[in-house]
Amino acid sequence: MQLWLDGRLAAAQDTSISPLAHGLHYGTGVFEGIRAYATDSGPAIFRLDDHLERLRRGAEALGMPLGSGGVDLAALRRGCVEVLAASGLDAAYLRPLVFYEGGGLGLDVAPLKARALVAALPWKNHLGEREARGISLRTSPFRRNAAAALPPLKLCGAYVNSVLAKLEATQAGFEEALFVDGGGFVVECTGENVFLVKDGHLTAVAHPDALPGITRATVIELTGAVSRPVSLDELRAADEIFVTGTSAEVTPVARLDGRVLGVGPVARSLAERYGRVVRGRAEQARGWLTPVAVGV
Ligand code: PMP
Repeated sequence: MQLWLDGRLAAAQDTSISPLAHGLHYGTGVFEGIRAYATDSGPAIFRLDDHLERLRRGAEALGMPLGSGGVDLAALRRGCVEVLAASGLDAAYLRPLVFYEGGGLGLDVAPLKARALVAALPWKNHLGEREARGISLRTSPFRRNAAAALPPLKLCGAYVNSVLAKLEATQAGFEEALFVDGGGFVVECTGENVFLVKDGHLTAVAHPDALPGITRATVIELTGAVSRPVSLDELRAADEIFVTGTSAEVTPVARLDGRVLGVGPVARSLAERYGRVVRGRAEQARGWLTPVAVGV
């Protein structure tokens, strides 16, 4: 597999990362999850600059401002395009990662050096299987990282919280976990934001501890969904629930704890519409897609 690492393409097996990498020990890195889709005019990356802007904010939070010093956001952007082109893939998952490597194992990051990579992974086509049948969601006994403890950005270490909740949910026979706060308000899932439909009205769950999802913003823009706080009681009474994310796209929730909702018509048609937008087959996609020329 080809990687983009610190400014150039390299075969993954020819690269090396220190076993004492600070990011490995403490999760001091920031990543993104970005999709490239096959469009009628070749592969294109969906909302690349929005993903990179979120990554920039995470890097800044970790004291590694991009643009000044080791890692350059424009270079990382080129890395996303170059690694996708080199991969020959037309549908891919792009994983940029910026992390602290050398400089010691102390917690003061000032002496540390950051490294940057981008990987392009083939997107395994689930043939929309989860979108079609919906997923099962379990209210998690875990709390989401509070924003005052860990800002809702894609900081590597923060994902241990998601892993613990996901593990608990899957061990209980569910596919995904739903974080609810101490006051009974819905936060998000381990890697998705939450929406509900009630009496034909769409609501995007808003919570200060939730990641500001790019798919969430896309769906709000497409549908005019209202963004506001939602209690678990309100969510339980919804006609339809669906989750959004770069990987999940628009995935209906067919079951929440003991309640079976099935797949409703709003989520089903929105999932189809989103699928057209990301592939450039809808007017709204203009400006959201970065075309990538393959094999040049
Ligand atoms: N919440 C969390 C915790 C996530 O990791 C993700 C995936 N990035 C999302 C929500 C959805 O965000 P996006 O639509 O930008 O992928």
